[in-house]
Amino acid sequence: MTIAVLGGAGYIGSHTVSQLVKAGQDVVVLDNLVTGHRLAVAPKARFYQGDIRDYKFLSQVFTQEKIDGIIHFAAFSVVPESMQDPLKYFDNNTGGMITLLEAMKQFGIDKIVFSSTAATYGEPERVPIHETDPQVPTNPYGESKLAMEKIIKWADAAYGIHFVALRYFNVAGAMPDGSIGEDHKPETHLIPIILQAAAGTRSNLQIFGDDYPTKDGTNVRDYVHVVDLADAHILAMHYLQAGNPSAAFNLGSATGFSNLEILNAARTVTGQAIPAKIGPRRPGDPSTLIAASDKARERLGWQPHFDDVEAIIATAWQWHQSHPNGYGDR
Ligand code: UDP
Repeated sequence: MTIAVLGGAGYIGSHTVSQLVKAGQDVVVLDNLVTGHRLAVAPKARFYQGDIRDYKFLSQVFTQEKIDGIIHFAAFSVVPESMQDPLKYFDNNTGGMITLLEAMKQFGIDKIVFSSTAATYGEPERVPIHETDPQVPTNPYGESKLAMEKIIKWADAAYGIHFVALRYFNVAGAMPDGSIGEDHKPETHLIPIILQAAAGTRSNLQIFGDDYPTKDGTNVRDYVHVVDLADAHILAMHYLQAGNPSAAFNLGSATGFSNLEILNAARTVTGQAIPAKIGPRRPGDPSTLIAASDKARERLGWQPHFDDVEAIIATAWQWHQSHPNGYGDR
């Protein structure tokens, strides 16, 4: 029984690989290392460097390893970049999925758990957002992931490739033992940017817009700890192995924090003043994203352990302090 983790050297992927290895699972990691880090991959996992858009690469790995199921993270995920370069996102995220499904069909691999996103919903009609709510993305990143969901639905119908799409809300934090954490270069996400400002490796934080229709005018997001998110993937794979039908699940906490609230929580956790200023809105940002994730709790048995945003930020802060330059150049 071997699980292949695609994008297993990335932020969420590496935490999932680590949790799988701890559970005694045999794991193979495929990653092109464009944004991932070789050092983030648990030593017990067998590593193959290559791109999921490369059919030859996939077929070589799937010939060498007998893969029973796939957990697929390999994608670009930066909203502002997707606004500037949408084709990059459709090529890697959506195109990559087509090549991967082709290889799965060819090699008889019929189970996949993959990263979708809250960004597939766009500006929600109500919060918290339910899985059945309209999906109308406001940026190409969300659109590329929605296309992946649609393609896989038809691949399931035609070829019997069963899937779980996990729609993440905002992920943060690091492995509590300090072994792995978040390292994007350049960094674009709110919590690591705040912590860089706290550590003095960045001069200040700019909050993108304070004129949204929210409690304090700044965007509201729903934060989940990366280890809780990783565990949801393992549960989703068990769900498919038990013969359950393909489905999509939100992964969030049902609680929203504004960008200013996150800044204040980080000030408490770090004990630093953290200089911040208000800047213009960032194109493509919905004002509020909060998940209803009862479905994942009921059907997957998912029980997040970190239900406190300060506790989530504290694990990220520990990682930032011990790894001010992330994984360095690797
Ligand atoms: N954000 C911000 N300043 C930054 C980075 C992000 O104000 O330097 C805001 C962003 O506009 C959004 C929230 O923080 O409202 C979360 O953004 P992030 O990029 O972390 O995740 P996303 O919600 O885009 O997946």
